Amino acid sequence: MREAIIRKSVDPTRDALAGWAALRAGFSWQQVRDELCGADAGRMNIARLAVDRHASGPRARRTALRFLAGDGAVTELDYAELKRQTDRFANALGALGLGRGDRVFVLAGRIPALYVAVLGSLKAGCVVTPLFSAFGPEPIATRMRIGQARLLVTTETLYRRKVEALRAGLPPLEQVVLVGERGAATAVPGTRDYATLMREAGDVAPTVATGPDDIALLHFTSGTTGTPKGAIHVHEAVLTHYATGRHALDLHDDDVFWCTADPGWVTGTSYGIVAPLLHGVTSIVDEAEFDAERWYRILQDQRVSVWYTAPTAIRMLMKAGPELARAYRHPALRFVASVGEPLNPEAVWWGQEVLGRPIHDNWWQTETGGIMIANTPALDIKPGSMGLPLPGVEAQIVRRVEGGGVEVVDAPDTEGELALRAGWPAMFRGYLGQDERYRKCFAGDLYLSGDLARRDADGYYWFVGRADDVIKSAGHLIGPFEVESALIEHPAVAEAGVIGKPDPVVGEVVKAFVSLKKGVEPSEALRLELLGHARKRLGAAVAPKEIAFLAVLPRTRSGKIMRRLLKARELGLPEGDTSTLEGGA
Ligand code: ATP
Ligand code: MG
Repeated sequence: MREAIIRKSVDPTRDALAGWAALRAGFSWQQVRDELCGADAGRMNIARLAVDRHASGPRARRTALRFLAGDGAVTELDYAELKRQTDRFANALGALGLGRGDRVFVLAGRIPALYVAVLGSLKAGCVVTPLFSAFGPEPIATRMRIGQARLLVTTETLYRRKVEALRAGLPPLEQVVLVGERGAATAVPGTRDYATLMREAGDVAPTVATGPDDIALLHFTSGTTGTPKGAIHVHEAVLTHYATGRHALDLHDDDVFWCTADPGWVTGTSYGIVAPLLHGVTSIVDEAEFDAERWYRILQDQRVSVWYTAPTAIRMLMKAGPELARAYRHPALRFVASVGEPLNPEAVWWGQEVLGRPIHDNWWQTETGGIMIANTPALDIKPGSMGLPLPGVEAQIVRRVEGGGVEVVDAPDTEGELALRAGWPAMFRGYLGQDERYRKCFAGDLYLSGDLARRDADGYYWFVGRADDVIKSAGHLIGPFEVESALIEHPAVAEAGVIGKPDPVVGEVVKAFVSLKKGVEPSEALRLELLGHARKRLGAAVAPKEIAFLAVLPRTRSGKIMRRLLKARELGLPEGDTSTLEGGA
C-alpha cells in the first residue's frame, strides 16, 4: 500500500504548512499591483504588461512563443518581435475603425496570428474572445451573437467552411480579417487580408489608457452542465495571472513552459498566453492535436521545465502505456500541474512513477479567471486533493439555507459548496446578458462556485462533485469523483463516468460507465470483477450497482466528462446543448 502523502521535503523540521500560512499572511494584492505596474496602476493593460515590459529590457531577444506546427516547422517570436507585431495589429484595428470596448473574436488554430490578434486587441482596448477552432458553424454564430462581435479574425479555410454562410445572420459583425494559409487572402469578397493590414500598419501603437476595470476578455464556459455562459473579465485580472504564475505554477526566469490548453478555453488564455509572458519565460505552443508520442517528444526535445495540462490528457497518456513514456527522457521537467476536472489519485501517482514528477492538481473556473486552489511546489501532496487556497484567495465551505443565504461550515471533512470571498482581481464581472444569473452566484460577499467539496484538518480541499452531479442514494450523498477514482485504480480501466439513475426505492442508484485500457476487451467476467473491486474499495452503499462499457466517454472539447449526457442518454431524455461536445458538429 502506498503512503497517502507525497512528501516534498525530507527535512522533518521544515513545516511546509506553517510556511504556506506565513506566505498567505504576508500577501496583498496591492503589493502585486505595485510590483507589476509601479506608479502606473491606474492604466492597467494586460498586453502591455505581458509583452512590452520585456520588449526593451534584457529579455527582448528571449523567445516569448515557440510554435510547433504539425509538419515539424518551428516559428519563434521573441519579446521584441511580439511587441512589434501586437503593436501593428493594434494599429490595424485602429485603421479599421475599432477601438476601446469594441468586440473582437478570433477563430483560429494555435497559430501565431491568433496570439498576435488576442494581445493586439487587448492593446487597442478592444474586448477579445478567442474561439475554439473545432467548433461548428452554429456554436460559432451563437457565441458571436451573444458577444456582439464587430470584427472576426479567422483563417481563410475556417471562414469558408464555418462562417461565410452564416455571416448575413450576424448583424453586428462589420468586418472580417482573414489569415491566408498560403500567402495573402485577398480573393474572398467582404474580407480583409491580415498580412496586408499588418504590413500597412505602423510599428508602434499609441497607448490606449485602459483601466483596471475595463473589460478585456470574454470567455465562454465549457458547457459541461448546460448552455455555455459568457464570463466577463477585466484588465485587472492580470494581477491574478501574475501571482498564480508564481505561486501555483512556479514560473522562474529560465523556464520553458508548456500549457496544453487551447486559448478557446480560459486556461489556454490565462495560462497559455498571459501568465507565462508576464513572467518573461518561453512558452511552447503545439499547433497539432493530442498524440501521446508527439507529446512525450515535445517534453523531451523542447526541454519543457514546467508543464500545465489536464486530467483527460494524463489519462490518455496512461492509456498509451508506460513503455512509450519510458522511451523518452525529460531531465528538464521540474513541475507538472493539471486543471479542469478532478485528478484521480491514480494519475498523481502515475506522474510520480512514470514521469518522475507528481502531478499537481489545481482548481479554478472560467468565472474565477485564474487558479484559486492548488497543490504547489512547497506543499506535500495528498493525491486526490485539489490543494490549498493560494495567497490572496479565501475559500470556505458553505451550505445554502432555506429562504436564501448560506451558512459557513467550519467542521473539517464536512461536505458543502465551495465558496470564495469576492474581490480577487480575476473574478468575473458578469455573465453576458444574464444579470440575474450572475447575481445568484453570490451570497453577501461570497461567490458560490456550484462545486461541492470538503476541507480536511490540514486545510486541504477535496473535490466531491459538481452540485448538479451529486448522487442521492438511500439517504447517502455520493460524489461521482470518489467512485470514478476507485474504478480507475483497477488496471483494466482507462476512464470512468458515474451518474445517479432514478430508482423508486432508494432515490438514485449509482451507475458507472467505463472505457478500458488498450488491449483490454469488455466481458461479463470483467464487469463482475469491477463491481466486486468497487464494492471492496467503497462499500456496498457507495459502489456502483451497474457498470456499462463504452469505447469512449462523451467529453467536452476542453476534455471534461459530460455526465449530464451519460445521464440523458441512459434515461432517453433530450441531450440539451451539445455545442461543446467533442466530435460534435
Ligand atoms: P459549465 O459551467 O458551462 O457547465 P464548466 O463548469 O465545465 O462548464 P469551466 O469553467 O471550464 O466550465 O470549468 C470549471 C469547472 O471544472 C469547475 O467548476 C469544476 O467543476 C471543474 N474543475 C476544474 N478544475 C478542477 C479540479 N482540479 N478538480 C475538480 N474539478 C475541477
Ligand atoms: Mg461551470
